Order: sequence, then C-alpha cells, then structure tokens
Amino acid sequence: MSKQSYRRYSKSPKQIGAKPQGRLLTLQQILRLELSRGCDNGAVLGGLDRYLDEWGKELKEFGDDVQEKPIKKFCTTVLFGEQYSERTIPERIDWANKILSLVNSFQSAGVGEERENMNPAREQRGKPSPPSPLNELSISSPVTSIKGIGKRVSAKLQNLGVSYVRDLVYHFPRRHVPIVWIKDVIPGNEQGIIGNLWEVRTVRVGSGSKQSTEAIIGDETGNMRLLWFYQPFIAKTVFAGNRLLVTGYLRPFRGIPTFEVGSYEIVEHGDEVVSPGSLVPVYPSTDGLSQRALRRMVRWALTLIEKEQEDYLPQEIKGRRNLLGLSEAILGYHYPSSICMQQAARERLIFDELFLLQIRLLRRRANWKSAAPSIPLPVNRGLMEPFFRMLPFKLTNAQQASLKEILADIRLETPMARLLQGEVGSGKTVVALSAMMVAIGNGYQSALMAPTEVLAEQHFLTITRLLKGPSEPVWDSFRISVPVEGFARPVVVGLLLGSMRKAQKKMIREGLASGEIDLIIGTHSLIQEEVEIARLALVVIDEQHRFGVLQRQALELKSRRPHVLSMSATPIPRSLALTVHGDLDVSSIRQLPPGRRKVLTRWLRPDQRGDAYQFIRKEVLEGRQAFIICPLIQESEVLQTRAATEEHQRLTTEIYPEFQIGLLHGRMPIKEKTGIMERFRARQLQILVATPVIEVGVDIPNASVILIEGADRFGLSGLHQFRGRVGRGEHPSYCFLHADDPSVDAQQRFVTLEKESDGFRVAEADLYLRGPGQILGTRQSGLPEFILAGFSDVKALMLAREEATNLLERDPKLLERGHRPLSEIVFGISE
Ligand code: ADP
Ligand code: MG
Repeated sequence: MSKQSYRRYSKSPKQIGAKPQGRLLTLQQILRLELSRGCDNGAVLGGLDRYLDEWGKELKEFGDDVQEKPIKKFCTTVLFGEQYSERTIPERIDWANKILSLVNSFQSAGVGEERENMNPAREQRGKPSPPSPLNELSISSPVTSIKGIGKRVSAKLQNLGVSYVRDLVYHFPRRHVPIVWIKDVIPGNEQGIIGNLWEVRTVRVGSGSKQSTEAIIGDETGNMRLLWFYQPFIAKTVFAGNRLLVTGYLRPFRGIPTFEVGSYEIVEHGDEVVSPGSLVPVYPSTDGLSQRALRRMVRWALTLIEKEQEDYLPQEIKGRRNLLGLSEAILGYHYPSSICMQQAARERLIFDELFLLQIRLLRRRANWKSAAPSIPLPVNRGLMEPFFRMLPFKLTNAQQASLKEILADIRLETPMARLLQGEVGSGKTVVALSAMMVAIGNGYQSALMAPTEVLAEQHFLTITRLLKGPSEPVWDSFRISVPVEGFARPVVVGLLLGSMRKAQKKMIREGLASGEIDLIIGTHSLIQEEVEIARLALVVIDEQHRFGVLQRQALELKSRRPHVLSMSATPIPRSLALTVHGDLDVSSIRQLPPGRRKVLTRWLRPDQRGDAYQFIRKEVLEGRQAFIICPLIQESEVLQTRAATEEHQRLTTEIYPEFQIGLLHGRMPIKEKTGIMERFRARQLQILVATPVIEVGVDIPNASVILIEGADRFGLSGLHQFRGRVGRGEHPSYCFLHADDPSVDAQQRFVTLEKESDGFRVAEADLYLRGPGQILGTRQSGLPEFILAGFSDVKALMLAREEATNLLERDPKLLERGHRPLSEIVFGISE
C-alpha cells in the first residue's frame, strides 16, 4: 500500500470515533502481531511509526478525564523515543514486550477493560449479543415472543416460512462462507474474516458523490482494508475496537487490495462461534432482513435445541447408518467447525427428511389399503374384447403391461393406489379408459378428474372420440351416450364443470346420483364438493402430480373406497418413483405409440421470428400444417383470450393473408372448439393459433411445425408436451422455441430440448434442473418439501426407504416405547 493511501485513513482522527481504551486494545493486538511476525515492521500497513504518529495526534483530541489520564501518560511513553523503523530487531522486540506488559498492567488495573463501554452508541442500542433465553420460551413459542422481534421483523420472517422458534432452528443456511486468516484471503472468492477494527471512517470513493465506509481490520496474520460501498451509515454502527465478522470479496480497488463487505456482524470478544478454518452460514433471506439479524436470531434459537429437541431417531438406526445426534447435526449444520462436520450434519438432516417422508408414505399406504374395502372389479373378457376391437389402434406392449397391472389390482377387494406414469402422448388415457370400462362392465361408475376445467373438457373430447367406434355418438350437451358392442346399454359419459350453467349441472348431478352416467369427467371438485356418485368404484386422477391430500381425505370418507389410479406425465426412474411415490404402486409406459418421429427442435434468437414464419410458409405451401402457441398469460383467462385473439388477427392480416388460420382458446364454447379442430383436421385451416392452456390433444399427422411463443414461461415438461403435437405422421417435423429475453434457466431448458427427444430423459433433466420437490408438486400433495435433499440424493432416498420399511415391518404403528418420539413427529405433525 502506498504512503498516499495510508494517509487517507489517518488524516482526520475525529472521524475515527474510538476512545483511548479501544485504541489500547488495538495497539495490544498490533504488538502481538508484530512480535509474531518477528518485528518486521509489517503489522500495520504503512509501518508502525506512521500509525503511532497518527495515534498520538488523535490522543490530543481527547479530554482529560480521570480514566484516560494514565493512558495518556502511557501513550507518551509509547511515543517517546526513536523511530521504530530505525531500531534493530532485538530492540524492537524489547520495546514491544515492554509496551505490552504496560498495557497488561493497565488492564489488570481495570483501565482499558470495559469493552462493552468502549462504544457508547452500542449501549443505547442494547446488547447485540443474543439475549439470554427466558424461561418460559421454548422452541414451540412464536418468534414474536423473542425480545426484540416485533411486527416488522416477524412479518419478514413469515415470508421465509418462519413463525415459531423451531422454524428458526430449521431455517438452514443456503451455503457457507469459509472464514480465513487475513493472510489467506484470496481475490475473487467469497470469504470471511474475523478480526478487530482499528479504524473506521467515511470516505468518498470513485466518482460518485455518495460516501462509503472504510475500515481497517486486523487479525494475527495481517490487516485488510474493508469497504462498504455507498453505506456511510455503517460508520455509525461499527467502531474501532469492535470485533467484527465480515464476509465479502477481495478485489483490487484503484490498485489497493480492498475487501468489499457483503455482510458483517459485531461479535463479542471471547464469545466467538466462528474462527478461521470454520464456516459461517449464509441464510435464505428476504428484503430488509440482514444476515446479521438472521444469524443472531438463529443463534439464539439454537441455544434452546440442545435441551429441548428430542432425538426421535432410534439409536439402532443411528448406529447402523453412522449418523450424528439430532441437535449436534442441527448445530453442526448451521455452524460447522469444518467441511467434514458440515458433511456429517447434512447427512443426518437429509436422512431425517427422507426417512420421515418414507414413514409417512408407508403409513399412508398401509392405511389406504387396510382401513376399508373396495369393490372388486373382475374383467369380463366378453365385454372387453369388443371394446379393444373398437379402438382405432392396438395397444402397445407397454400399454398392455401397465393395464395388466391395473386390472390385477382392481379385481381385488383391497383398494388400488397406483400411479401410471408415462410422458405426454404415451397413451395413458386409453389405458385408464380401459380400466374404467371394466368398472362399467361390472355395473359401477368411474370418475376421471383433471387439474383444470380446460383439461377436463379435453379429456371429455378425447374419450368420446375414442369411444366413437363405428357409430356416431349421440350429443346431449355435456352428456353423451355411446353404444358399445357387448354392453347391455349405451355407455353414458358426462362432463361436470363449475363453469357450466346451473340447469346443466343439475342434470349431470342427477344422472350421477341415479347411476345413469357411467363415466363422469370433471375437476377435483368432483369428489371435494358433495357430488353424489352412487356407485363409484374407480377414480382416475390426471393431475400430472399426485394423489393430493384433500382428494384422499374425501375418498376415505366413503364406506367403500374406490380404486384410485393417478396419472403422471412426469415419469421418473422407477427406483426413484418407488421411493418418492412411496404410498403408490407404480406402472410405467416407456414406449411411445408407433409412428412417432423425432422432432427437430430449434431455439430461436429474439430476432429470428421472421425466419420461423418463413419456414412455416414453406411447409404450408408443401401441404403441411402448423401450430402457433401464444405466450402464457397467467393473470387472467380474459387477458389470455384477448392476446390470442390479437395474435390471430395480426397473423391473418399481416403475416399470412394468403392462409386460413384458426383460433383456439379456453373461453370458446366446447362445440366451437370441436368445430375448429374438425376444420383443422380436414385441412381447411393451415395454421392453428392456440392459447397454451389448450392442450391440443389431437392427432394431426399432417401437422409438421409448432412455434411456441414466450417459450421461457414453460417448464421442460410443458415444452416437451407441446412438441409432441407434431411428429405424428410421415413428415419430418420441427419445433421452434421463441422468447424475447429468456433467463439463464430458460436457456438451459431450450438447450436441453434441442438435445433430448426422449420423454424420460427430458423428465430426468427436469429433475436435475428443478429438483424433485418442484417437479412432483409435493407441496400440493401435502408432503413436506425437501429442503436439503435433492435429486442427487437418490442413494440416500433408497437408504431411508429401506430403514423405514424395516422399522414399520417390526412395529407398524410405532407403538414400541422407543418409537414414541418418532411417532409423535410422524403423526403429530403430518396426519
Ligand atoms: P397421454 O395421456 O399419455 O398424454 P394420450 O392417451 O392422450 O397420451 O395418447 C396420445 C395420443 O396417442 C392420442 O391421440 C391417442 O389416441 C394415441 N394413441 C394412444 N395409444 C396408441 C396406440 N397404441 N397406437 C396408436 N396411437 C395411440
Ligand atoms: Mg394426457
């Protein structure tokens, strides 16, 4: 550091703001450091003489109060004599030791000792150290019962999902920053330093007019210039003599090595949770809640867990799996003493997360299977064979295998709980329909539930189309009857949506109560609201997620439980599926119906939309057809419809005046939709503009291009789903992804789609990108979200599954004495 720059720290002592006592401590540290360096005059940037010189000047500014007098005298001693730099090394060592022993004698006389009082401002603000826990507080108290946490802070904590002291304990750091000695700070990495502040002042840096705070921090190995950019107020909260933990980055600033401070906190002398070599936590936070504040609150909460948090994991399992104790792991995860410790703590916590999930899932499964019987639905071959003949295609082997598993389940009195997974277009619907036909053949009713009304409608269309067979179905608004060979009377399929007119709904409800409607299609409200379905024996849930808690509860109320089949369009590897969907049996369709082509996928740059239009024109002129999907507008369907209508208008008048372009959106009456689809199928329309909520669930083998606008708004699976609309015929097919300003994440999805065409692989990539919690929608299903575990923890997941299975085999209801704490956690919180 140049002389010039050193001067900048010491020019105006008034700003320094420390009292002599603080200076004394600092001097003590400098001298210790200097001694440890062999008195090379390197403990202070710029040399000791200059430092002492400035120090002396500063002392003149202080008054003559009693306490300071001996110090002043001492200081004169310190300052008297030769220049430090001109002494020999042995002389320096002598001198430093002499001064140090003088400081020590002052301290034992109580002069420079009152560290708390070194800084008057601090007293006013109250002690920054964690308040000592009051007796009546426990980890189950609300955070507001902690002194100092008021409405403002608790609202912010709420944003982080923290309402109780326990939540603070489980508010795990997102990452850790290593604490290093100052000599080991390297540029570019986020690191932490713990040391004493020598000087603090405000300065103007750069060309801006705003003040920044600058400080010098020192530890046993050296000093570092700290800079809080454009935060002059910091100089009013930290002072020379404070012990500080700072995290940030070392960067040269105008040629001077400078540590840009990201977070800081004042730590108590002698009461340090971190030291060089250990790690400091960085917590997920929210606007206006500093790391410093969070760390303080969490640390405080942590003081409670050791005595309050019972370790519910049986000793046997801990021993076998070599796991840390619970409170040790929690403490160790917040404040690991080393990377190894952090690893071990993480292992234990991940194990808990997964193990508890498995216990809950397995218990849920056992409950579902044993609490009440279902109606056995044996297959009547005489009925099913004509039905299969009637279908416009033959089931693939994969479809047949899955169907076989389902039929084996539903012929029993034990309720089925099965997941049918397969990517979009793999033909799950027809498999589910086959099972529902078996129920109908037995004289019972089936229900098919979709997550949205639009998707329910789509199913209604698909299923009636599949059932059409040789004769046209009879339309009766939301209820059609289809003659099916072998069945004593036509099969009646109904649609029930909240948005339908009252009279229509009434008619459908009556048909359900009387048993006249065989197959009802709707949303989840079918079983949540009180729709009476007199002879319900099979429920199919197409929610791409899982069988949700609400639905399960609704079904559990029934004296005879329906068999339940969930369908997921996000297939995951079987091993993972068995564990993540631990309460369900899993069937997978890993094969697409014949004739699917790989769809060449291209991510278009923002300015390449014109190229896509040109390409589509070329394809259309060759006789092909195209889909254009409008950007997703989540706020309202009205806006969405308007946007799609405008886009349709623009394309018709400006881009393709020569073509016939159709429009499909969610607010169209269902008959209009089918009309448009029929015209598209008949090639009267060359281009179809559709809103994204419309799952264009139709086979148009002649369609060869799909352009997806606003592609960044969709997840991988969603995009893959759209892409599956083309490539169904003999023609080479193309998918264009367009986005104006895609995020890095979105770009990653686009690149993945350019590379991968297999749905299982896409789903797997999706898992890696988003993690299982997101994908499987555990939040909706009432499962706890994984906080620590990720997809890469498949191994841990299997292990937890194994332990959970073992444990429940031995003690299915967790009644053993030693399992009581576990039982409390599992049943007390979840069910
Ligand atoms: P999913 O529900 O799995 O997304 P669908 O059941 O909607 O898939 O089927 C996608 C398309 O494939 C539908 O048009 C359907 O008629 C067709 N399909 C299904 N199974 C077969 C098959 N075995 N052979 C030919 N086409 C099939
Ligand atoms: Mg489907």
